[in-house]
Amino acid sequence: MNDKCPICLDVFKNPYSIGCSHLFCKKCIDKWLDENYNCPVCREKFVGSFSIPMELITSKYKTRKITEYWRGFKVYVKIHKMMNVYYGEIHGLDNKCSYMNKIFKYIYDNRWIFRSNGNAYQLLGADKFKSVLKDRLIEFSKYSHYKEAKIWKYKFRDILK
Ligand SMILES: [Zn+2]
Ligand SMILES: [Zn+2]
Repeated sequence: MNDKCPICLDVFKNPYSIGCSHLFCKKCIDKWLDENYNCPVCREKFVGSFSIPMELITSKYKTRKITEYWRGFKVYVKIHKMMNVYYGEIHGLDNKCSYMNKIFKYIYDNRWIFRSNGNAYQLLGADKFKSVLKDRLIEFSKYSHYKEAKIWKYKFRDILK
């Protein structure tokens, strides 16, 4: 990864990713996103804005902490993509419930993102994500015919404590 922003060609100020492997200064990419909905380099669709800690850019990606961060980052991007599909393309309560089932399963299969100790966990914003997940589970347990919600609530009980 380059250590210069592809828009201003200067050193990163407040580096951000929008879901692909490219990084930008927050200011530069926000300005671009005013009129576009993709990455100015690879044209991949905008997924979400993710703050990337400066220390991960200046280091050489060799420590365990950093590898763990990028692994977790990919999981977060995937969840964001699935949520975008959920809001944009899935219609009808039954379809929404069954797609949400898929999302809960993906999160559960990757639940290590909540457990990774130390920095990576905090940098990924796992605490904030936990409360979003909690809200989703509460919302979906209201649909009485969606029985899986209760199972997910049970399976996530230790994580969401
Ligand atoms: Zn820039
Ligand atoms: Zn890109």
